[in-house]
Amino acid sequence: MTLVKEEVCRELDFYNRTEEEQNDFLAMTWCNDCQEMDLGMEDPKEYYSDSRHWIAGKCKVCKTEVITEIQEGDEE
Ligand SMILES: [Zn+2]
Repeated sequence: MTLVKEEVCRELDFYNRTEEEQNDFLAMTWCNDCQEMDLGMEDPKEYYSDSRHWIAGKCKVCKTEVITEIQEGDEE
């Protein structure tokens, strides 16, 4: 997975979300290294750019970076 470096991205405060949302995002993950879902993530950081909105954290099991894309509506 590659991030486009040229794209301007801003960091948002993940902890502005409700506790319920935080728990959901921290629990619902996919780890490419473990090849397993819902292992959980820690150290979450939320980012937003013109084309993407995502949360990046570390897999609780192997500590590799895991990314959860946030889909907001069906905007193309
Ligand atoms: Zn993992």
